Amino acid sequence: MKQVIEGVAFDNLTLDEAVCAGAELVRSSGFHYVVTPNPEFILLARQDPEFLRLLNGADLTIPDGIGVIYAAKLLGRPLKGRVPGIDFASDLMAALEQSGGARVYLLGAKPGVAEEAMANLSARYPGLTFCGCGDGYFKDDAEAARRVGEGAPDLLLVCLGAPKQEKWMAAHGPETGAHLAIGLGGALDVYAGRVERAPERWQKLGLEWLYRLKKEPRRIGRMARLPLFLLGVAARRLTERDRKAGRGPEEG
Ligand code: UDP
Repeated sequence: MKQVIEGVAFDNLTLDEAVCAGAELVRSSGFHYVVTPNPEFILLARQDPEFLRLLNGADLTIPDGIGVIYAAKLLGRPLKGRVPGIDFASDLMAALEQSGGARVYLLGAKPGVAEEAMANLSARYPGLTFCGCGDGYFKDDAEAARRVGEGAPDLLLVCLGAPKQEKWMAAHGPETGAHLAIGLGGALDVYAGRVERAPERWQKLGLEWLYRLKKEPRRIGRMARLPLFLLGVAARRLTERDRKAGRGPEEG
């Protein structure tokens, strides 16, 4: 069942459940895509109705950011837990390896990064076939899709940042012949070993965002909007309660 948080309909699944659903999509016919929204996506979608439509048109929508989990709690519609996109992709690749293998294509990041990621992932998942890769700074969207199609992938990781990756996946994903595409932001930088993920301790405390801020202080502008997002959610929740109770906001 979907849980709507600030206009975005999330699948309420644990990581393991999401991986099972993803593996089924890889094995089914036709093209499917997964989105991994965090609060930044939700804020972007408020300004961009096409982006919102694409998020809600995904086959699987998993809550990547701890901010989404807090917002869901504040709204009284809790989600089972955070499902980081990169954990979802890693566990899905492990599951596909276990169940007979799959062809995987890596698209995105700066020139050279996808190659490094591919070398690392080939070593980590020897039972998968990494059938090609390309950087994320292409000029011709359709040509990029054609090149992906030459690899005949089952699974495609699209790491162009939001909303570019969702727009590209929805428009050109079907042309690639892949069964499943996942929009994964900066995941190739992590798989390439160029960006370090927060240690597990920080992840468990829901502080991955703080670790990232420590490593990349230039993100402060982007991240400063997140507390405001949660304050907005809390204020809306209180207003809704007052309305339901038949009280005006001035009556407290
Ligand atoms: N990127 C890309 N093409 C573009 C813009 C960005 O391939 O036109 C890549 C960028 O190099 C980075 C990723 O997209 O690897 C976006 O990373 P970001 O940290 O913004 O995403 P997040 O992990 O925060 O979702």
